[in-house]
Amino acid sequence: MRTDLHLGMRHSFSWYIIVSIALTCLSCSNPTVQPVSKAIIPAPTVVDWTPGEDAKVIWDGAWAWSIDAAWYDHVSAWQQWLPGEVKEGGLPISMTRADGHAREGYALEITADGVHIEATSEAGAFHGLTSLRWMLPPDTASKQAWALPMVAISDAPRFEHRGLLLDCCRHFMEVDYVKRTIDLLALHKMNVLHWHLTEDQGWRIEIKAYPELTETGAWRTETDGSRHGGFYTQEQIKDIVAYAADRNITIIPEIELPGHSRAAIASYPWLSCTGDSLEVPNNWGVFKDIYCAGEDSTFRFLESVLLEVMELFPSEYIHIGGDEAPKVRWESCSKCQNRIQTEGLHDEHELQSWFISQIGVFLAEHDRKLIGWDEILEGGLPDGATVQSWRGMQGGRDAVAMGRNAIMSPTSHCYFDYPVESIDLERVYTFEP
Ligand SMILES: [Zn+2]
Repeated sequence: MRTDLHLGMRHSFSWYIIVSIALTCLSCSNPTVQPVSKAIIPAPTVVDWTPGEDAKVIWDGAWAWSIDAAWYDHVSAWQQWLPGEVKEGGLPISMTRADGHAREGYALEITADGVHIEATSEAGAFHGLTSLRWMLPPDTASKQAWALPMVAISDAPRFEHRGLLLDCCRHFMEVDYVKRTIDLLALHKMNVLHWHLTEDQGWRIEIKAYPELTETGAWRTETDGSRHGGFYTQEQIKDIVAYAADRNITIIPEIELPGHSRAAIASYPWLSCTGDSLEVPNNWGVFKDIYCAGEDSTFRFLESVLLEVMELFPSEYIHIGGDEAPKVRWESCSKCQNRIQTEGLHDEHELQSWFISQIGVFLAEHDRKLIGWDEILEGGLPDGATVQSWRGMQGGRDAVAMGRNAIMSPTSHCYFDYPVESIDLERVYTFEP
């Protein structure tokens, strides 16, 4: 018995040696472990691939890190961003802080000695790592040896704000889905998640001062009788904001006003002009019932909400929507008409502008800036507001002509919920803001 067992072990040991030699020889005879990946999206500004067959470095799944002391806070997040383990003897990767790089810019060099990334800002350093990640195995758990191309890259973004709007209101999205989206944004060097958190069909952010917003406003009954909904607790939001910050992404929350507010009105009917009890709607469209502009209580409500929002989101900007607000209720509301009179306004469009200005002043008092959809141009653009142009490009042009900032996200190029026949990949990628 003992002998048999011993033989058996020896046999399997020999077999193991033969297999490993065979594998080693395969990689000797074919030094291209796999095709070297030179795809980096978006394309960096300047890329110099070292020419020649042998211009590659074999990475064996481990890194020996050297990170500038200024960036020690980011060590763990950055190490997790790349596949591979941290090990002495791994491929050297150094990250050096140096003046002179553009905002979010970096230089990345891969030589026989390893990887060197240099940047002035943490954001730039992270983008350098991200470019490296494009050249590594897509499967982050892979232990396979991998060939990295030798290359020198210098890169910086053209635009300061590169974002994606995630609408978690029409359909609720779980925390893991939001985080996965953040990962994909970071991989494409985007730096803003525009998080749409309040809508007619659902209110998704816990507000401690107004618990009905999520007890009632986060849920709707679908036409088949099922319930749809959900919301993010303040603890979940803090976690997501920190997760995003680790990936150089700022979350700009969108709290819609004065329209797209049916879920809030369903929770607190006194927010509307009529005070009628309304359900959270289960259909799409633009709804007549919006926040009453005549009642001071509307503004006390919105200020309380925004105080909690600003506590959760360190973003310099807060998006307040401002789009698709029909004026029909305001036209027949004595309180709204009274407001038009007392504020010396011309009509309901100026009332909307006045409404947005009130919120803009409140945000400014808390050192925040306001972003609104291009409808906020109607009736006069409130001081300091940034315009997000969605109904084509003109709103953005008008804002810039007035010396304001604009975010370009026209339906012609930027709406991924449109049919792919009208907005395909090429159209999106070739968008020139
Ligand atoms: Zn009213």
